[in-house]
Amino acid sequence: MVSPPEFRKIAHEFVDWMADYLEQVEQYPVKSPVTPGAILRQLPEHPPSAGEPMETLFADFQRIIMPGITHWQSPNFFAYFNANSSYPSLLAEMLTATLGTQCMIWETSPAAAELEERVMDWLGQMLGLPAGFVGVIHDTASTATLCALLTAREVATQFAVNREGLTGGEKLRVYCSEETHSSIEKAGKIMGIGKENVVKIATDPSLAMDAARLRAAIAQDGEDGFIPMAVVATLGTTSTTAVDPLPEIADVCGTHKLWLHVDAAHAGTALLLPEFRWMIEGISGVDSFVFNPHKWMFTNFDCTAYFVKNVELLVRTFEILPEYLKTNPLGDVKNYRDWGIPLGRRFRALKLWFVIRSFGVRGLQEKVRSHISWAQALSKEIIAHDAFELMAPAPFNLVCFRYRPAGDENTLDDLNQRLLTNLNKSGKVYLTHTRIRGCYALRMCIGQTSTTPEHVKKAWNFIQATAAEMELTS
Ligand SMILES: *Cc1c(COP(=O)(O)O)cnc(C)c1O
Repeated sequence: MVSPPEFRKIAHEFVDWMADYLEQVEQYPVKSPVTPGAILRQLPEHPPSAGEPMETLFADFQRIIMPGITHWQSPNFFAYFNANSSYPSLLAEMLTATLGTQCMIWETSPAAAELEERVMDWLGQMLGLPAGFVGVIHDTASTATLCALLTAREVATQFAVNREGLTGGEKLRVYCSEETHSSIEKAGKIMGIGKENVVKIATDPSLAMDAARLRAAIAQDGEDGFIPMAVVATLGTTSTTAVDPLPEIADVCGTHKLWLHVDAAHAGTALLLPEFRWMIEGISGVDSFVFNPHKWMFTNFDCTAYFVKNVELLVRTFEILPEYLKTNPLGDVKNYRDWGIPLGRRFRALKLWFVIRSFGVRGLQEKVRSHISWAQALSKEIIAHDAFELMAPAPFNLVCFRYRPAGDENTLDDLNQRLLTNLNKSGKVYLTHTRIRGCYALRMCIGQTSTTPEHVKKAWNFIQATAAEMELTS
C-alpha cells in the first residue's frame, strides 16, 4: 500500500522519469527486439499474497517491462499510423487519472459532459464540418463505426432489430471499398449482418472507391432482394491513404436513401488545413463522420471524435433508462451513455481541451502541415531515385515505396521484406509494410510530435544505405 506522503514523493520521482524518458526516447531501439514469451517468462505465475514496496515494482518495470516496449513516441517511429501524444495531453491525462471520474451521464460530472460538448463543437469547426454535425468522444474509430452502422441498421429497419432482434430474413448490406479498414468487416460481424454482407467495391487506379461500381452493385443488390443500408467512405485508407470520392458516393447514397458514414480515422487531421477541405466536398450528404485525434493530433490514445448529423437517431438506437440511473428532470443536458456502447466513460475531453488550447489551432496546423511537406519532399526523392519506386499516390504524410534495383523482378517482394526486417532490426527506425495490388511495399508515416526534418533525412539515408548493402551481400 502507498501512503499519501509516499504517493507525493513517488509521483514526483515518476514525473522526473517521464520527462527524462521523453527527452531520451531516441536512445531506445524503436521496435522492441524481444522474442515471444521473453516477458511472460519473467512474470511469476501467481500473484503475490503480501503487498510489495513501490520501489520493487518500479525496478521491475524498468528491468522487465521496458525492454518489451516499442517506443511509439520516438521521433524515429514511422510505422503504421502514428499514435502521437504531447506534453499538454500527458498533463491532462495525469489530472484525468487522479479525478477518476465516470462520465456516463451529465450528473456524474457536469463539467465533463459540458466540456465534451464544447470541445467537440470546436473540433467540428476546426475541421470545417458544416454546422449541424454534433460530436461525441469514443474510445476508438472501430467503436464509432460500429455505432454508425448500428444506427444505420435501425434506420433501415424502422428500429425493428432493436425491438425484436434479427429474424434472419433481413438481408441487409453495407458497402465499402476493397481498401477499407478491417473495422468495417468486424462491425458487420458484430452487428449481425455477417461479413459476407459487407460488400467490397473495387478501386480505381488511385486505390479510391470506384463510385460507378458502387452504384451498379447497389442497383443489382436491390434487384436481387437485398436491402442496402449504408456505405462507408474512407478519407485516407490505412494501406496508402487513398481518398474515396465523397461527392459521387454521397450522390449514390442520396438516390438510394442510404446512411453514409465517413471513416477519416487518420487523415481527418489534415482537415485542420483549409487546403485539404476538398476531401469533404459532398459532406452535406454525409450522416456520420469519424476521426482519431489519438492518431495524428497529439492527443494520447484513446480519443476518437465521432460526429453525427441526426443525434436523435443515434440516441434512439442506444438509449436505456433503468431505475437506478434515473435522475431528476434537469432540462437540456447530455447523457453520453446514450450516445454509444459503454455505460462508463473516461473523461477524455480534458486532454483534447488542453491540446487545442496549448497548441492553438495555428500551432496544430503548422505541425501537421510540416509533416505533410516532409512526406512530400521524401516522395519526390523516391521518385527521382533510380533504385526506389513510389508505390501509391502520397497525398498526406504517408509514403509507400519499394526498393527496385535493376535485376530480377520476381524477387522484389522478398528483397523488400528483408529490407524491412533489416531496417527494424537496427533499432534506428521502425517502418511497416502493406501490399499494393499484390506487391509488397514499405510504409513510412511521418507524424510524430518530436520528429524533425533531420530525422526524416537520416531515416531516408539509412534506408538507402541498408538497401545498397543488402545488394552487395546478396
Ligand atoms: C486506424 C484506422 C481505424 C481504426 O482505428 P481504431 O481507433 O484503432 O479503431 C479505422 N479506419 C482507418 C482508416 C484507420 O486508419
